[in-house]
Amino acid sequence: MRALFWEKKENNTVRCNLCNHHCIIQEGKRGICGVRENRDGELHTLIYGLYSSVAIDPIEKKPLYHFYPGSEILSYGTVGCNFKCLHCQNYTISQANVENSYLEKTTPEGVLGLAKRYKVPGVAWTYNEPTIWYEFTHDCSKLLHEHGIKSVYVTNGYIEKEPLKRIAPYLDAMNIDVKGFTEEFYAKVVHGRLKPVLETCELAYHLGIHIEITYLVIPRHNDNERELVEFVNWVKEKLSPEVPVHFTRFHPDYELMDVPPTPLATLKKAFRMAKDIGLANVYIGNVWGEPDITYCPKCNEILIEREGFSVVYNKIKDGKCSKCKEKIFGRF
Ligand code: SF4
Repeated sequence: MRALFWEKKENNTVRCNLCNHHCIIQEGKRGICGVRENRDGELHTLIYGLYSSVAIDPIEKKPLYHFYPGSEILSYGTVGCNFKCLHCQNYTISQANVENSYLEKTTPEGVLGLAKRYKVPGVAWTYNEPTIWYEFTHDCSKLLHEHGIKSVYVTNGYIEKEPLKRIAPYLDAMNIDVKGFTEEFYAKVVHGRLKPVLETCELAYHLGIHIEITYLVIPRHNDNERELVEFVNWVKEKLSPEVPVHFTRFHPDYELMDVPPTPLATLKKAFRMAKDIGLANVYIGNVWGEPDITYCPKCNEILIEREGFSVVYNKIKDGKCSKCKEKIFGRF
C-alpha cells in the first residue's frame, strides 16, 4: 500500500518524512525501520493491517496511570522499529523483518469489532513502535473515534510533527519514552537523537493529547544525577509539573546483558529528587512490592493505590480529589 509522508527525489529515490530519520531510500530498498520500501519511485508500507501480537492488558501496564485507571485496553503490535536500542525487551519483533515473521491480517473494522466484543474503552498501539505503522494506526484511530473508543500510542516519540498533527484528533493518549537525557546516549544506545523526542513530547502536550513519560534508568548509561535533574526540570518547565513521570527499572536484555538491574536505591533517589523539584505525579516502575500511589497534589490525600498492574482503590471522583475537590491531572 502507498505510504503517507514522503517526497520524490532524483533518480527515483524517495525521502520518507514520517519520522526524524528522514531516510533517503533508493529504488528497491527500505528505510531504517525495515517496513517502508521504495517500489518504482513510490514509498510503500509493508505492514498495513498486519500484526504480530494482540492481547488485552491492564492500562497500567503501558504504563498509563492517569488515563482511565483500572481499565483494560486492547493492545496490538506489528514488526519493525525506527530505533535500534541495545536494551530492547521486544527485539524479537522490533528487529524482525516482515518476510521472516508470522503476521496475522486484520482491518480497521476488525480492530473495532474486537474492541467492541471485549467491551474495552480503548486500543493501544504498543509492543513495537507505532509510528512506523502509521497508515494503519491512523485509519483505525479515526474509525475507533467515530465509535467512542480511545486510541493510545506507546512510543519512542520519534514521529515527525506533521504526522503527529494529522493523527492528533484521533489520538487520546501517548506514553512517550525519554530514554536518556543526552545526545550522546541517544547516539550510542538508541541510534537516534534526543531533541526530536523532546519536541514530540512538547507538541503532543500542547495538542491536548494526554501524555505520560517513561524514563528507563540504566546503570552507568543514563543514571547520573545531573542528567536526571535536567530531565525533571525539563518536564516541569516545558511540559507541566503534573505530567506523570515513570522511572522504571532496567533488566539486562538483548545487547546490554553486561549491565546489572537498576538498584532500587537509584530509583528511590530519582523519585525523591523529582518530588523535591516539584513534580506532582512520580512513579517507580518494574518493581514489585513498593507502594504505587497517586496523591492529591493539594491536600496529599491518597487517591489511587495500585498493586502490580491492578488498582486496589480509586478515590478520584469526576476527575477531582474526593476530599478537597482539587482537579487531578488526567482523564478519569
Ligand atoms: S519511518 Fe522508517 S523509512 Fe521513514 S524515516 Fe523513519 S525509519 Fe526511515
